[in-house]
Amino acid sequence: MNLDRLKKEKNAVILAHNYQLPEIQDVADYLGDSLALAQSASKTDTDVIVVCGVDFMAETALILSPDKVVVLPDLAATCPMAAMATPEKLKRMKNEHPNARVVSYVNTTAEIKALSDVCCTSANAVNVVKSLPEKEIIFVPDMNLGKYVQRFTSQKIILWPGYCYVHRDIKKEQIIKLKKMHQDAEILVHPECSPEVIDTADFVYSTGGMVEHAKKSNSKEFIIGTEEGLCYRLKKENPDKKFYSTNSVCSEMKKITFEKLVHSLETLKPRINLPDKIIEDAREPIEKMMKIGKR
Ligand code: SF4
Repeated sequence: MNLDRLKKEKNAVILAHNYQLPEIQDVADYLGDSLALAQSASKTDTDVIVVCGVDFMAETALILSPDKVVVLPDLAATCPMAAMATPEKLKRMKNEHPNARVVSYVNTTAEIKALSDVCCTSANAVNVVKSLPEKEIIFVPDMNLGKYVQRFTSQKIILWPGYCYVHRDIKKEQIIKLKKMHQDAEILVHPECSPEVIDTADFVYSTGGMVEHAKKSNSKEFIIGTEEGLCYRLKKENPDKKFYSTNSVCSEMKKITFEKLVHSLETLKPRINLPDKIIEDAREPIEKMMKIGKR
């Protein structure tokens, strides 16, 4: 069946993350980073939201639009970093640091968000932390993003030992090698990368920030230190520029295929469900985050 007809028939919108396969990026109504997808999910007036990404993104869409049908074309698409933060451990940490506020990355389960004071994405983490008056911040779960935020604030960032394996595996030597091969290229890396990789960069951005920067920059060549799916979008939107990838792949993001997307639109399955109480408690920290600007 024709995808546009199917979308119209179901009154559905397709939100896709920048790391999705080209076949998904090409048919998405909104393509973006986690912050942009959360914003789109909160604004859409369709009955159905199809999230092409990983589990926490679909949960976030449901939390922001609890009356809609939210589907994730493959329930097995789960973020391993989100799974590294458990409610029990977070409750323990909160007890150990009673004066600290909890900032949780959107890459967390709905249960973790429900226990947090405010959420953040890689696009606004620094601004979110700085917006809080508390001197101590429990930052969950990405250690590298927490260390990056620490560079910009005197508040004490209490780190969680979580990481994104895709960005952790990008090595400084890879970036240096690419730079030797392409000396005029600007180096853009994601803040989930290690501090050593961040130190090699000209700019540190979320994927949305990289998209904006690549458009505006006078440079014609870029080394991109993030999941390789973003380079498809960058090349498509900037055909006169060159992008050199670290060839890092998130196998979870690649689980969503065009066939699964169509099947999910036809059947409105697999559907995301969450308990009402979790939806209620998790919404406030996400909404607080969305009011805070990007960095
Ligand atoms: S790229 Fe990293 S943070 Fe994003 S879904 Fe994959 S493992 Fe999780």
